[in-house]
Amino acid sequence: MSASGATSQKTHVPQPVVLITGAGSGIGEATAARFSQEGWSVVLAGRRKEALEKVKARLKTEAFVFPLDVASENSDQTTAEWIKANKTVADRISVVVHNAGIFERATTAESSMDSWSRMFETNLFGVVRLTKVLFPILKRNGGAIVNVSSTLGLRPTPDTAAYSASKAALLNWSAAFAKEAGPLGVRINSVCPGIVDTPIHSFHSAENKTATIESLAPLQPLGRIGQPRDIAHMIWSLSGPGSEWTTGATVCVDGGINL
Ligand code: NDP
Repeated sequence: MSASGATSQKTHVPQPVVLITGAGSGIGEATAARFSQEGWSVVLAGRRKEALEKVKARLKTEAFVFPLDVASENSDQTTAEWIKANKTVADRISVVVHNAGIFERATTAESSMDSWSRMFETNLFGVVRLTKVLFPILKRNGGAIVNVSSTLGLRPTPDTAAYSASKAALLNWSAAFAKEAGPLGVRINSVCPGIVDTPIHSFHSAENKTATIESLAPLQPLGRIGQPRDIAHMIWSLSGPGSEWTTGATVCVDGGINL
């Protein structure tokens, strides 16, 4: 299916392409699997080539590894070069999932300005740089963008000031861009995950992981923390058929923790 909802059943018809940043682990990896399950071709972007190759090997549809540091100030140039070198794939990009992100915990008083820069470069500026380069393709294809923000972008906690501010800025930009891109046929929506079991959390690889997850469960009215597939499913839903009239939306997928 295309982002606008068109169905393509014949195998010889080139499938639409989704480009996912941070596709080597967690939510990005699950999103790649979700789109692949729907028959899409997938471009897997991220810094760790080996991780992306492993994800690629597990997918059932065609996939392409795109080594990219979204936080680099040359990420737009790198992406433009990749597009030029992979034109037949790049021309089919209908959906971009801005999922790459970093999280560094600190209070405002304790945080360094380097940490603020790192998080804004990755969680916001990298998104804008990539969008600028990919927008002409999305416009041609009537495409869609999904941002992965955070419930912390809506309701911050004291020790996540820089991260929360970067994710809030992402939501605000997303609303502004929805107004700019809507008349040009491109939709942009955001997902705000709650606590999801991925490598971004130290408990993910900790020995006491099970106990930690159990202790976090009651925070959610739905009684558990999230799995990457919970978020991937919403990203897919906002990208494809049924969401043709949805843009500028912020959807919390968080077991109700943000209520
Ligand atoms: P992961 O750490 O598993 O995924 C983050 C991904 O981003 C990694 O694959 C990493 O790959 C990639 N990444 C980080 N920096 C860069 C960069 N400069 N350039 C390219 N890729 C980069 O954690 P999640 O799956 O949880 O994170 C996905 C998104 O979800 C993030 O934006 C995060 O903020 C958001 N989120 C997660 C929540 C959670 O509880 N898990 C809650 C709310 C939001 P590599 O190192 O190879 O580049």
